Amino acid sequence: AVDISTISEKTLSSILEQNRTYYTQGKVADYIPELGKMDANAIAFSVVGKNGKVFNTGDVHKKFTMQSISKIIALMIAVNEKGEANVFDKMGYFGSDKPFNHFSNLETTGKPLNPMMNAGAILTTSLISGEGEKPFLKILDMVRYITKNQALDYNKSVYESEKSTGHRNRGMFYLMKNNGLISGNEDQLDNYFKQCSIELTAEDLAKIGYFFANQCVRFDGDSTYKNVEVARLVESQMLTAGMYEFSGEYSRMVGLPSKSGVGGGITVSVPGKMGIGVFSPSLDQHGNSLAGYHMILDLVKQYNLSLF
Ligand code: GLN
Repeated sequence: AVDISTISEKTLSSILEQNRTYYTQGKVADYIPELGKMDANAIAFSVVGKNGKVFNTGDVHKKFTMQSISKIIALMIAVNEKGEANVFDKMGYFGSDKPFNHFSNLETTGKPLNPMMNAGAILTTSLISGEGEKPFLKILDMVRYITKNQALDYNKSVYESEKSTGHRNRGMFYLMKNNGLISGNEDQLDNYFKQCSIELTAEDLAKIGYFFANQCVRFDGDSTYKNVEVARLVESQMLTAGMYEFSGEYSRMVGLPSKSGVGGGITVSVPGKMGIGVFSPSLDQHGNSLAGYHMILDLVKQYNLSLF
């Protein structure tokens, strides 16, 4: 294998150029109307390597919403507050074999498959303590902490757009309330919509990947949240459910814990080594960034990064 210390901005930019045109084969998400306005040609690639060194290429200043990637942050906070057993009493550890907005298994066992599906994620966020917007603010603060970027905020238009069209998510929320899993009011669902609307860059995503790859230690070495078990839990969920129903095939091809969002971002943890962040809003049929997936795949092949 090629030594990862030889990764440079040049490595990343040549991989990016090889994959740039994948945007022509996918489609920008528009089921949340505001997301449909994204620039389909935007593309960025970041790595945070040994000792937190950052490498960036492409549209590195372009911001996008983290969407489903926020689910791993909510999971970490809920487990830190409530304990893993209490969180997973209400949902499964199952891998995803269904699209992210599927109702399984709310109509059979009554519980979501895992915290990476929308249902499980909405439930996870509802388990974070605090009234009103407080749970969302904890998620925002944690993303700001991990990325060391206090300027991060959520995009109000994307939030409003999702709130006014997210009837399927609202349906899941009420079904889980019916099933006795959720006790609060719709503020809890709003917190989920807000967390999905947090805006960041590919570099921020690489820092999130690095954090979970390194036992919840930040890229600059800050170990305030260091926790081996939480990192293992989050990474295992990323591996089995982070790429929606594509997770199994993705594990075969890439072999690394990863989490995608319909905003076009993917964060990847290379355990003990590095974090990768990609952005390109043109998505495949599962909702994963097409160019993003191919950039990750090329880097993984070139440096033999698969866990297996
Ligand atoms: N906000 C999106 C939704 O709930 C998140 C889904 C995703 O990124 N897959 O539909």
